[in-house]
Amino acid sequence: MTNPLYDAVLGQHAGLGKPLLHLPDGETLSYAQMAGRVAQFAGVLDEAGLRKGDRLALQAPKSPDALALYLACLRTGVVFLPLNTAYTAREIEYFLEDAEPRLVVCDPSMADALMPIAQAAGASLLTMGEQGTGSFADAAETAAPSAVVAACETDDLACILYTSGTTGRSKGAMLTQGNLLSNAQALAALWAFSRDDVLLHALPIFHAHGLFVACNVVMLRSGSMIWLPRFDTEAVLAALPRATTMMGVPTFYTRLLDSPEFNRARVGHMRLFTSGSAPLLAETHAAFSQRTGHAILERYGMTETGMNTSNPYEGERRAGTVGLPLPGVTVRVTDPETGAVLPAGQTGMIEVRGPNVFSGYWRMPEKTAEELRDTGFFITGDLGFISPDGYVTIVGRQKDLIITGGFNVYPKEIELVLDGWETVLESAVIGVKHPDFGEAVVAVVVPQPGATVDVQALLASAGAELAKYKIPKRIFVVDALPRNTMGKVQKAALRERYAQTFVTED
Ligand code: AMP
Repeated sequence: MTNPLYDAVLGQHAGLGKPLLHLPDGETLSYAQMAGRVAQFAGVLDEAGLRKGDRLALQAPKSPDALALYLACLRTGVVFLPLNTAYTAREIEYFLEDAEPRLVVCDPSMADALMPIAQAAGASLLTMGEQGTGSFADAAETAAPSAVVAACETDDLACILYTSGTTGRSKGAMLTQGNLLSNAQALAALWAFSRDDVLLHALPIFHAHGLFVACNVVMLRSGSMIWLPRFDTEAVLAALPRATTMMGVPTFYTRLLDSPEFNRARVGHMRLFTSGSAPLLAETHAAFSQRTGHAILERYGMTETGMNTSNPYEGERRAGTVGLPLPGVTVRVTDPETGAVLPAGQTGMIEVRGPNVFSGYWRMPEKTAEELRDTGFFITGDLGFISPDGYVTIVGRQKDLIITGGFNVYPKEIELVLDGWETVLESAVIGVKHPDFGEAVVAVVVPQPGATVDVQALLASAGAELAKYKIPKRIFVVDALPRNTMGKVQKAALRERYAQTFVTED
């Protein structure tokens, strides 16, 4: 009897005395200690009546116990459902009604608000605090550790991860053991992870990046992680000398570059920095490489698919691109209207097929049918193109495409022009309602520290580089762009903020 994913990430290392986690207080947690904790946690799940296929929802701060609970779910075949720690009780209500978990585990501070919601959804509730406190840990003290590892197949559901969609209802992506295992194996091999690796882990673990890409890959190879509760520049700078690798979202790297203490001496020994979850500006890539001598390796993935493409470990890491399809993954670009496959260089819808692609949206067969073709290709919603030598470039989400006066405008093209202006740190281009054009192009720019953006001069310079219909009709200057925890610019929030720009009252 086997449990492919659990055996690969923990079962096979259950006797190892080497550190899995280096904790902020200087303590370590070995693989063997983690395996013991996971067996205790599996005992709690057993006693709470959870069986293979039941769901468990976790909304709790990042902690070794939160990781142990994920692993206990894999071990018992319970479907793990991690929830963003920023969600309010009202938002959680939707997820509990939709997923019908048997058990909800939350931060003690959320217990009062979530108890009635959990009860209404037919779930029991236990708590898990950041420091190993709470009623779940208490139950683990007395529960008999489970001695069995549930037999699972690669097709069995391992996790449901809700999409971070900023518009419309969030959808539960059903990920199987095989999806997660194949992706971890592909990445561990491609990025040359080994048992000697020490990954600096400052990502949240309610998302595919921090949980599957980081933890699964490291554990598959019995490496170690420096476990930080969140990204804090000082803490990361202090930990870097002990790390060999780091995975981050682009904002991690721009924040590090803001610190004069982030230099070649501090990271000369590092093996790899990877970036994903949001676009890494070519400018950041260049600044990083100039400061440290390291070329950040950018890769591309999403909740529904795990990772799809990666720049090479050996070979050219091309700034502004997300690299080549992972082994076993097929990436193609199609005409968004007709679905016809487009030739290299043409921009269209990115579609992916491979063992990483999810099995569908939880209890949403129509949505699944809309986005997952019978041929196995998933329609990602990202627009992009593939170079003749296979590198994929993303130009943005389809829902961010602007149609002005009948012309298609890809925000990324305009953002790149604006970002090239010396007083501009970064920009976001959106479409807002316009009485004549349907939508009008609007830019929101953040100045470089200490600089002032001369909007008229910026418009004049954009005029020299862009066709007239692509030039922003208005440019707003702001201190910062709204971002979510994964560093993604929240364009829906910007569209809402500037919705009335061209709407005249009559
Ligand atoms: P999520 O499902 O929250 O992981 O978000 C997935 C989306 O993030 C993708 O569909 C892309 O739009 C975006 N994304 C992820 N990685 C990258 C990247 N390296 N460059 C640009 N966009 C990215």
